[in-house]
Amino acid sequence: MVFSFFIGVGYAQEKTPESTEIWEPQPRKIEPGWGNKPPSDAIVLFDGNDLDKWEHPDGSPAKWNVHDGMVTVKPGTGTIQTKKEFSDIQLHIEFKCPEDDHDEGQGKGNSGVFLQGRYEVQVLDCYKNKTYSNGQTGSIYKDAIPLVNACRKPGEWQSYDIIFQAPRFNDEGRAIIPAQITVLHNGVVIHHDVNIQGTTSYIGAHQYQEHDLKEPLTLQDHGDLVSYRNIWVREL
Ligand code: MG
Repeated sequence: MVFSFFIGVGYAQEKTPESTEIWEPQPRKIEPGWGNKPPSDAIVLFDGNDLDKWEHPDGSPAKWNVHDGMVTVKPGTGTIQTKKEFSDIQLHIEFKCPEDDHDEGQGKGNSGVFLQGRYEVQVLDCYKNKTYSNGQTGSIYKDAIPLVNACRKPGEWQSYDIIFQAPRFNDEGRAIIPAQITVLHNGVVIHHDVNIQGTTSYIGAHQYQEHDLKEPLTLQDHGDLVSYRNIWVREL
């Protein structure tokens, strides 16, 4: 009797439109950016002026060249990394591969966006440059092939919009939830909720190595004069 009474009440409640409305909590109000301006809750990592938010991995100042509202790799000075550390983020970053790089394959406009300093979204000029598919522009390097090649010409600005969820490790250091990534290249989806297989490596199968939940974002010095601008993240 008691059982059927509660079933009856529940059924009656579901018959009103209000019973399926959720009013609290309300999403936080933010101001979206106009054009290529960041939204109001973004952490701006590079606005064209300085590398104050960045450093060399040894803790010394970042040595890349800031000029004309962009920052360009200074070959041989090493990667640069954010001073702040991140876990789950939305990242916007714009890049430009040099027009006058007449190298080919992996040597043409190579750099990279390393989520948590480990998981590389490849930066390369593949407008008219064939290389292995899992190492081309927008690949999760040697891990996932982009759905399409959305490259613009070298010398033109391009963008990545990345939604990244950091991996979660258990007490034994095993990745029980892999990193997940969605990438838009120039506004085109090239990875949709892809599981990352492990730490990016040049040789051998990728495997996870345990790390902190929050780690810096790094940009690769691969010896080519790749430029970046308008870099911002939102913590999710
Ligand atoms: Mg690279």
